Amino acid sequence: MTGIEDRKSLDYQVELRKATKLYGSFTAIANLDLSIRPGEFFSILGPSGGGKTTVLRAIAGLIELTSGDLLIAGAPVSGVPVYKRGVGIVFQNYALFPHMNVFDNIAFGLRMRKLDSEQVRSRVLEAMARVRLEGFAERRPSQLSGGQQQRVALARAIVINPKVLLLDEPLGALDRNLRIAMQAELKALQRDLDVTTICVTHDQEEALTLSDRIALLNNGRLEQVGSPVEIYERPVNRFVAEFVGGTNIVSGTGARAGSDAVDIVLPDGSTIRATTSLPVTDGSQLVVSVRYEALKLTKAKPGGGDRNAFGGTITNVAYSGSGSIVHVRVNDALSLVATCPGRPSFEQGESVFVTWDTGDAVVLPS
Ligand code: ATP
Repeated sequence: MTGIEDRKSLDYQVELRKATKLYGSFTAIANLDLSIRPGEFFSILGPSGGGKTTVLRAIAGLIELTSGDLLIAGAPVSGVPVYKRGVGIVFQNYALFPHMNVFDNIAFGLRMRKLDSEQVRSRVLEAMARVRLEGFAERRPSQLSGGQQQRVALARAIVINPKVLLLDEPLGALDRNLRIAMQAELKALQRDLDVTTICVTHDQEEALTLSDRIALLNNGRLEQVGSPVEIYERPVNRFVAEFVGGTNIVSGTGARAGSDAVDIVLPDGSTIRATTSLPVTDGSQLVVSVRYEALKLTKAKPGGGDRNAFGGTITNVAYSGSGSIVHVRVNDALSLVATCPGRPSFEQGESVFVTWDTGDAVVLPS
């Protein structure tokens, strides 16, 4: 393992520079630049086919890039085989050896590295303790629950003291409650080990919950890299805004453009006041994002001359336990979705007013 002192002097633990992977004439990832800091929990998020697994497999050494550079701990790793890259990998389906017991599964990488049996034993037992698997050494994978198998896979990955921990949809096979519990454990373990971790997921909530930073990939290209707050609150385009969290997208023409706010005139002549960090001009076509949870619904007409207030009719109400999702039709051109905490206090067909703060309507770069 790269020593902590050495590692801290590195700016980046993993770097991709203009990384491109072609399968025949198909481009899986194109000109990708990614720099992952030591100790970071970095998620690669995106829709199916976006290129997430391709990036992970390239870092692992399971595939070679067609062009571009890949560095781990500051050193180029092109041509370096998987077992010499110092990466621990947790595969989506765990890929445990079915004929080996838990101890031998976890010991595999250490035995490959020719550690003596006493070292193997103490490191395996330490890894088992870290993932709370004490007492399971003799079990075969088929005798374990999904969550326990996940822990074995994690122990097998960390036991080699990896420079980088690679996780491919690590919690995807677990049910919701277990997934939430494992998210907390995984994060605590990662923090405790201080190991640079790259996690592939298509679950935006998981990426937001776990990550220091997130890269959003779509069609092999990078849409945005940033902290969960940056990605969620300052999406750089419509794709990011819609992929991460629920949002209403409204289009219109700019008017009364100022340095940090602008009116959006909708096709029916009504107006939304929105904030902007971009230079905007009167008459330009603008796209605005308003998060579901930013909308407030009231039965009485709101006072105060709020510009962002619309009357509408509820077309659907869905209760999901912790909250409700309410669809409101304002007019032929505008329907909005709002999420409200708790049980719904509205019914389908009811008239309501929808309001939001100007700061919650954000102009997106087109
Ligand atoms: P998912 O979330 O569905 O796993 P992903 O974002 O991980 O998707 P990748 O597995 O990286 O996507 O695949 C990116 C693209 O490259 C896809 O269109 C896929 O079909 C293609 N691809 C991946 N592996 C190969 C291969 N060996 N040969 C040809 N095309 C491939």
